Amino acid sequence: MKIVVCVKAVPDPKEADKIKIDPETKTLMRGDVPFATNPLDKHAVEAALQLKRTLGGFVTILSMGPPAAANVVKECLALGADRGILLSDRAFAGADAFATAYTLAKGIEKIGRFDLVLCGMASSDGATEWVGPQIATFLNIPVVTMVNEIHHESGDEWQVKTAWEDGYRRVAVQLPALLTVARELNEPKNLSFSGIIKARKKEITAWSLAELDVAPDSVGFEGSPTVVGDFGTLQTARNVEFLEGTAEEKAKLLVDILTESGAIG
Ligand SMILES: Cc1cc2nc3c(=O)[nH]c(=O)nc-3n(C[C@H](O)[C@H](O)[C@H](O)COP(=O)(O)OP(=O)(O)OC[C@H]3O[C@@H](n4cnc5c(N)ncnc54)[C@H](O)[C@@H]3O)c2cc1C
Repeated sequence: MKIVVCVKAVPDPKEADKIKIDPETKTLMRGDVPFATNPLDKHAVEAALQLKRTLGGFVTILSMGPPAAANVVKECLALGADRGILLSDRAFAGADAFATAYTLAKGIEKIGRFDLVLCGMASSDGATEWVGPQIATFLNIPVVTMVNEIHHESGDEWQVKTAWEDGYRRVAVQLPALLTVARELNEPKNLSFSGIIKARKKEITAWSLAELDVAPDSVGFEGSPTVVGDFGTLQTARNVEFLEGTAEEKAKLLVDILTESGAIG
């Protein structure tokens, strides 16, 4: 079974406050914030590795990002994936979800035959949840989102369970297909020392614009139909007021203040 897992290198959430937005281009300026694996993508990697353990197969990690994103790919190789591919080129920078999905779909086409593409349900930074379904559209394959159980029926027939408003639904899906996964799907494993050693021998291939054979204006900022009109900083202020009196008096005062401010009717 050939599985491709799309893994996004996101700014380390612990240092996310250092990220700025370029006022001219309205794109992100990451500065020197280190990358981390997008949390939900760890569940996608674990799902792929579980399928490989039970059914056999080959797991390819695919990521689009700057050269430093290779560390995230390396981490997935240390967890047990077989091959890593990093789509990296200045031309890919500034991509919106559409251009990101297009570039990743072109990467998957170049990888060749595949049975399953796994994505996280959302990234921790952009969080549009569009990339998975858009990749599936470009590849012309079925997509099921927010998957929290995967069952193999027979042959290419699979059944998946997804969260659905106040319940769930079971969906029959035929491979090749793309699934976006939810965190309930599994518990990702931690890195092991032996995994890290084995990963040293595994290959990470870097593909640039030329290798993907796509037009420069169909990727990156140029290929992004999303237009950021404007952005601003949310001004928040807090007033602290200590209420005096007995519990009853304080409760009455609180109701008066909330009524006056319009918070309650
Ligand atoms: C006008 C505009 C300019 C932008 N400029 C920049 C910029 O300069 N720099 C920047 O970093 N971001 C930029 N962004 C954000 C960028 O659009 C998103 O990071 C990117 O398109 C992915 O969308 P998302 O994070 O919402 O993914 P989601 O759809 O929430 O992600 C779902 C899943 O898709 C997969 N996935 C998503 N992205 C990747 C990836 N790169 N590689 C592998 N798998 C992936 C993962 O499996 C992930 O869990 C810009 C956005 C806009 C609208």
